[in-house]
Amino acid sequence: MSLEIDYKSVGLKVGLEIHQQLKSERKLFCFCKPKLVKKEPEIIIKRFMRPTLSETGEIDPTMLKEFKKRKLIIYEAYLEENCLYEIDEVPPYEVDREALKSALIIAKLFNTQIPDVVIVSRKQYLDGSVPTGFQRTMIIGLNGYLEISSGKKIGIEQICLEEDAARKIRESEKEIVFRVDRLGIPLVEITTAADLNTPEEVLDAALRIGALLRSTGVAMRGLGTIRQDINISIKTGNRVEIKGVQRPEWFKKIIDNEIIRQMNLIKIKNILIERKVLKEDIASQKPKEITDLFRNTKANFIIKSIKKGAKVYALVLPGFSGLLGTEVQPNKRFGKEFAERVRVIVGLKGIIHTDELPAYGITQEEKDKLFDVMNARRNLDCIVFVVGNEEKCLEALEEVKERAKQALDGVPMETRRANEDGTTSFERPLGTAARLYPDTDTPPVVIDRDLLKYIEEKIPEYPWILAKKYSKELNIEEGLIYNILLSERNRLFEKAIKMNIDPKLVVNTLTQTVKYLRRDGFNIDEIPDEKFLEVFMALKDGKMSKEAIPEVLKKLSENKDLNIDDILTELGITGLSEADLRKIIIDVIERNIKLITERRERAFGPLMGDVMKIVRGKADGKIVSKILSEILKEKLKNLE
Ligand SMILES: [Zn+2]
Repeated sequence: MSLEIDYKSVGLKVGLEIHQQLKSERKLFCFCKPKLVKKEPEIIIKRFMRPTLSETGEIDPTMLKEFKKRKLIIYEAYLEENCLYEIDEVPPYEVDREALKSALIIAKLFNTQIPDVVIVSRKQYLDGSVPTGFQRTMIIGLNGYLEISSGKKIGIEQICLEEDAARKIRESEKEIVFRVDRLGIPLVEITTAADLNTPEEVLDAALRIGALLRSTGVAMRGLGTIRQDINISIKTGNRVEIKGVQRPEWFKKIIDNEIIRQMNLIKIKNILIERKVLKEDIASQKPKEITDLFRNTKANFIIKSIKKGAKVYALVLPGFSGLLGTEVQPNKRFGKEFAERVRVIVGLKGIIHTDELPAYGITQEEKDKLFDVMNARRNLDCIVFVVGNEEKCLEALEEVKERAKQALDGVPMETRRANEDGTTSFERPLGTAARLYPDTDTPPVVIDRDLLKYIEEKIPEYPWILAKKYSKELNIEEGLIYNILLSERNRLFEKAIKMNIDPKLVVNTLTQTVKYLRRDGFNIDEIPDEKFLEVFMALKDGKMSKEAIPEVLKKLSENKDLNIDDILTELGITGLSEADLRKIIIDVIERNIKLITERRERAFGPLMGDVMKIVRGKADGKIVSKILSEILKEKLKNLE
């Protein structure tokens, strides 16, 4: 589907929600290391969700829905790496100050207002990913803004510091397995206003937010350390949240597909209104068992299930003829929205509807009979049926009814998951009431003056502004510097520049050299900044040439504790004084008088080669070339 979308006329509004793990020595509410563990789990805990009365004396309907799934929740943990907090057996410990400071720096960078007192709140989490059933979170900044590269200011609604949830290992119909190593890793959540109006702006904002987070040096790096969700709406549509957009390159496709989806859902709504379908007509439909109709069917999957005791139940969707077969996203028909909802909420594999029949071995004859049995109108209604045990079938058809009623509103508010092909799938209805309530286990955290002063001093300059400044000062391409400023070596770069090390050499080493050494499998990222600085100093002091940098870095990547002087000795690198270098060059020239008389200036190339063979790693090629051409010129004069 290649369709030119006029984002302005559809009234596109997009907001971003970015989750970034923070570096710290400990987890947010306990003292375990904030790290994923790479070994088999040592403790297995099994639990069931159980509904209890809420503070307002009611049973939460969402909770009840989760309880109905009767899914076994399994937590995997470790003896040494986890404590009782992660499995909800002890109350939380005090908030990690380091993570709090990092989050406050981020809150300042996004120009938000920081509260005087931070309250720990509970955010309901019912999918099992947090054993307590809620995530502990703190609002640490409100009402800020960020200027994106087009110059537009976008609102930052709020910034939260919270604990990461456990990671899902696998899920089946009967059970879901989480590992608690990720639970409690400090996380900042940045929520922008829905101020972004084109996919380009969304990409721009996401890249800027990512860059800003990286430039602080407090953000964790690597796969899974940053996660982005987007919410999308169009003029006549509704707010839809899309989770798990793994790469910024996905944004445009996902946004375009969601716009198309919302437009198609609105079209379907208008058709239903034209056909005078009412929500009550849908609500009053009764499911009917139709197992007998399929006792002799050629549809294998139905026969197999019936033999195992399954039943078949059907429901009429009045006025829905042809609609479930309509494509709403590329290669995804409207019927799929029903099927996904049934799969996620009830746990049945899917639904079958008459728009897609005859198919799967179900004949036209059976389809006709179905319409008769259900008393449905052939060119006006659609019949949906499901296969499974009675209870699940009835639950599933209840969800089908629910989704069909929503079709009359157009776009349902819901959370969807991003797929790799740019489409999305149903995940759950969008949370209704406020899910935040105060945590009774933790004291409030006071943001005092000393803490604020400390934060103010730590706030870095925006990387895009710094890149401009350095680019001008050092006469080096802005993009190169910007990349370094977003890398883990940003502080090293600034220190090296302050120490008057040749900026081009620093940039080259931190981009080219590091890149190809990493590609060749050297543990270059393990070398601490200080060692890089020592290498630069050795170079500045004439102890080595720049040609020797890769060799020295290779040695350091094998053992980062090595002393630079020892490495130079081991590699046989001793800096040459200019006098020594001159002597070597004169030697080479004297040995090649014949060549010089024959070739004159053109002897330079071979001579240079000979000298470099002797001094490689000990003298800079540029200096060699300069001295050689000087001495050669003089020699040629003398030979005349
Ligand atoms: Zn712990």
